[in-house]
Amino acid sequence: MYLDNAATTKVHPEVYNVMQNASFANYNAKYYQEAEMTKVQIDDATSLIAANLNVEPESIIYTSGATESNNHIIKAMFELYPNKHFITSMIEHKCVLETFKYIESKGANVTYVAPNNNCEITVGAINHALTEDTVFVSVMHVNNETGVINDISAIQKLCNSKNILFHSDAVQALGKVEFDYRTIDFISFSGHKINGPKGIGLLINNTKIKLPSLIHGSNQQNGNRAGTLPNELIVGLSTAVDLILHTSNEVIKANKEYIIELFKKEFGEDLTINFPDNTVDSILSIRLKGEVNQIFLSDNKDEIKASTGSSCSINEPSYVLQACGFSQQEIRETIRLSFNKYDILQVD
Ligand code: PLP
Repeated sequence: MYLDNAATTKVHPEVYNVMQNASFANYNAKYYQEAEMTKVQIDDATSLIAANLNVEPESIIYTSGATESNNHIIKAMFELYPNKHFITSMIEHKCVLETFKYIESKGANVTYVAPNNNCEITVGAINHALTEDTVFVSVMHVNNETGVINDISAIQKLCNSKNILFHSDAVQALGKVEFDYRTIDFISFSGHKINGPKGIGLLINNTKIKLPSLIHGSNQQNGNRAGTLPNELIVGLSTAVDLILHTSNEVIKANKEYIIELFKKEFGEDLTINFPDNTVDSILSIRLKGEVNQIFLSDNKDEIKASTGSSCSINEPSYVLQACGFSQQEIRETIRLSFNKYDILQVD
């Protein structure tokens, strides 16, 4: 059983299909029919993404993935406001934390907010961290290790009331939590977490602010990001977004319940669900008393393909669980199981 969908997902057959049929010509080319076809396909794909996400097509910046989207927004904010104060959380994905550490090394003033007992980043904690100089806050929508959902609407409202810009890494939330992303200033998404292709992501800019580009070159994407537009990836991503937002969470829910039952049968009282409340159904963090996660997963790798936590920090004890107050023993006993919307797990 593949239970590592928070790390990456298999490309959906319909996504493959549209990618295979994508026009090959350069979006910026002129005069010939193939180039016209590319233009129509990419513009249609962008309109479809915009309609699904309820954002303006002009707000969409195509990137190489959420790592780039997160780098882009954080570095852009630092470039625009070098002497101001920034807030993020201790449990963000590495690509957010390392980018904040990078701008800190260039002189930025950054506060890393701790989660509460349920591993949530609360609006209260953000409020407490605000200073007169705060201009930018970044808090993820759903954590990739715990599955816990943060109330980003409340954080955006707080930011609005103080004229602060807000960004959310919503990679693990898209299609799992119903949400109107138009209400958030900046958002990051990734193709390969929603059964789309790897190598493409989105940075949505719902504000009127012109962000400095991260990647310089020609004037593609109105100067927001240089580089030839990847036709195949864009049409694939648009189909993946459309599919994920029009497919119910029933399979994910059923898969999660099935897996919990399976582990209950095997481990009984020795099974603990780390975060029973306020989580997405697609991510299940469990503890197996007396087991060592790496040994357990390696011994059972033919039956269960899963991770101890984030695949980006596989060899280190989870800094996320540490920030959430877990002991080293509890971290060692924890594994993360994650599900997708399209693969029904076998029920014998
Ligand atoms: N943010 C979160 C919450 C993630 O889970 C991931 C994936 O590991 C990323 C960002 C990075 O996304 P990408 O692989 O598209 O760069």
